[in-house]
Amino acid sequence: MLDTRALSRQPGSSKDKRLSVPAPEDFGVEMVGVPEGAAIELDLRFEAVLEGVLVTGTATVPLEGECARCLDPIASTFEARFQELFVYPDTRSGGHAGDDELQLEDDLVDLEPVLRDAVLLTLPLSPLCRDDCPGLCPDCGVRLADAGPDHHHETADPRWAALQGLAGGVAPAPPEGGRGDAGSSGSTDRREGKQEG
Ligand SMILES: [Zn+2]
Ligand SMILES: [Zn+2]
Repeated sequence: MLDTRALSRQPGSSKDKRLSVPAPEDFGVEMVGVPEGAAIELDLRFEAVLEGVLVTGTATVPLEGECARCLDPIASTFEARFQELFVYPDTRSGGHAGDDELQLEDDLVDLEPVLRDAVLLTLPLSPLCRDDCPGLCPDCGVRLADAGPDHHHETADPRWAALQGLAGGVAPAPPEGGRGDAGSSGSTDRREGKQEG
């Protein structure tokens, strides 16, 4: 919660503020996030407008995560920009204050939800350790950045060979043209058994 009492309600007046806040918990997405308690640097501008206080800011957050391609740990910083209007509770703008409108409470603004939206919505979903990270070898899982450009495997993978053998075994035999058994029937040996009694 940030105090805006130093700011006059006179529209047009403004105040800049820099501060550092600890990151709340669960501040991240699947592959990358801000470690809980890490320092978030806020560079804020409060501007008094008719309806309330407009907060414009930049948050510089430390990030920790994993490279989406090679799973190497990543540590970097990330900047998120945001702008949010906090309205005075007593002077709602034109009477149509939405449910999602943020209010000043006793001249305090709660920036955490604003920060959370600004950071989480812009975090990279697939962070990379570097833009051209070659990732892992799909065959053996080695890091291609370590293994070098010559790393490759024989193309005739034994697993594929086994599959090919299997496919040959179950494939229908090609039709062998016209060999019927018409000629071999017809010569059944009829014995007209006459029993002599
Ligand atoms: Zn990587
Ligand atoms: Zn490999």
